[in-house]
Amino acid sequence: MKALYKKRPFASIAAVGYTIHLKYVCVSFLTMGEKVPVYDNHIHMSPSGRNVDALREYQAAGGTGLTLVTLPYKEVRIAEGKDFARSYGITYSLAEKAREATDLEINIAVGPYPVLMLSLAERYGLEKAEEIMSKGMEDAGKDVAEGKAVAIGEIGRPHFPVPAEIREASDRVLLLGMEIAKENRCPVIIHCESDGDTDRSLAEFADKAGLDRGMVVKHSSPPWVTDAETHGVMPSIPASKSNVREAIAKGTDRFMIETDYIDDPEKPGAIMSVNTVPKKVSAWLANGQVSAESIHRICGDIPDSLYKRRGGIRCHTR
Ligand SMILES: [Zn+2]
Repeated sequence: MKALYKKRPFASIAAVGYTIHLKYVCVSFLTMGEKVPVYDNHIHMSPSGRNVDALREYQAAGGTGLTLVTLPYKEVRIAEGKDFARSYGITYSLAEKAREATDLEINIAVGPYPVLMLSLAERYGLEKAEEIMSKGMEDAGKDVAEGKAVAIGEIGRPHFPVPAEIREASDRVLLLGMEIAKENRCPVIIHCESDGDTDRSLAEFADKAGLDRGMVVKHSSPPWVTDAETHGVMPSIPASKSNVREAIAKGTDRFMIETDYIDDPEKPGAIMSVNTVPKKVSAWLANGQVSAESIHRICGDIPDSLYKRRGGIRCHTR
């Protein structure tokens, strides 16, 4: 561990015991005041949830950045493709409020939530459902082009078994999403099943779309992190102790971590609490389960490389 601190001399997050330990043992390697990044790659906010308060709590716990992913809000009923844009608008205004209330880095992902394909098909027929979802995808792409969002997500297909025609329609919309992402040089965040061949399938879709496989983020990924497991897809793993232990034990830190916090007061314990990632990162650093070097990659370098691309592009073309 000490060797790593020499290379990365600025680890000091909320864990008091850890900071004290560093102060006394490795004080000559420390630049006090600098922090490790603490990044949750999948958070939802809801207008009827705790929204800004939840993100205040996240920051207070040590969080520095997050991917804010749009979700169907009960405030907007999707009956036509153009309704998605209104839904994305809610995400932007929630993000705006959160930016005013906190110093968090907030990277926004918008896109047509894949499970909607089912209810839309039931109401309007599958052909119309696909059309509505595709329009939602196109509008997500427009928003990325305009700089309102930096990623398209969560998109994909239902995570549970569905009739073949639903899956096929979902796959067509997914491919469209990847093509739009390719045009806009942005990542896609994928919601889908987690079967043995899932990442391979996602990699094949990316190839078809001409999108770099590394720009395909598998949300809620099992600890599949080796090249043989990911096929180049970028895993975003629920931040549990066992997941991260298993991932790190495979000898790589090429992944991100997430909670999928859903901000629904009616289901408080449904997914992990909003301060899970800061708490875990702090504990992992303190007990040595994950090195500061790896935390910098998981919570800093990787999210930066995915979500700060467009800023970079703009700088170049200016
Ligand atoms: Zn989600």
